[in-house]
Amino acid sequence: MFHASYISGKPFENPITKVVCVGRNYAEHARELNNPVPDTPILFVKPETSVVSLEDSFSIPESDCHYESEIAILIGKELTNASLDQVEASISGLGIALDLTKRGLQSELKKKSHPWELAKAFDGACPLSGFIPYSDSISLTNLSFSLEINGETRQEGLSGDMITPIIPLIAYISQHFTLRSGDVVLTGTPKGVGTLKINDEIVLTLLDQLVVRSKAISRKQ
Ligand code: ZN
Repeated sequence: MFHASYISGKPFENPITKVVCVGRNYAEHARELNNPVPDTPILFVKPETSVVSLEDSFSIPESDCHYESEIAILIGKELTNASLDQVEASISGLGIALDLTKRGLQSELKKKSHPWELAKAFDGACPLSGFIPYSDSISLTNLSFSLEINGETRQEGLSGDMITPIIPLIAYISQHFTLRSGDVVLTGTPKGVGTLKINDEIVLTLLDQLVVRSKAISRKQ
């Protein structure tokens, strides 16, 4: 079982049972993949077996691997059909994750109207950072984050650009899936997705409080 941890290194008390993700939550990203902007959030789940730490390095498929950098929310209290206030009170931490995607395979699955799990739920498909403890002095609608690969900025995001903002998104998720204490929500990726290759060196930042340096390595290493 994988426990999320704070940037201090202290692990969260409960393990992750699942990661709930949203597709196309930034309009410019939906457009770059020629997808329509949805009316309601497009949800999918990554199992706890997909989660790995972003510390130092993480392994990726040899080919057909896209990065999507996303703000990650650590849920501290169980949520079912939650109100906006209950959601706000349940957030324990803010981090950053990669929603790794076998993009070619996903396109094939979409064409056949099949589910996306083979492309997004594989072992290691959710490399995850440590979490900044959340307090209400942090504005959830003004979170900036970025992804750099081999010294070049590839994605820059601002939570204020989300189609469904963090609190209503989590409330919506809780109408469909109970979120357990320890679970993680990924909030969608901004424009700039692309291929991640073996030996790529990445730097992920969130606000000025979290900087993660890591490297994509081969499964065989
Ligand atoms: Zn994503």
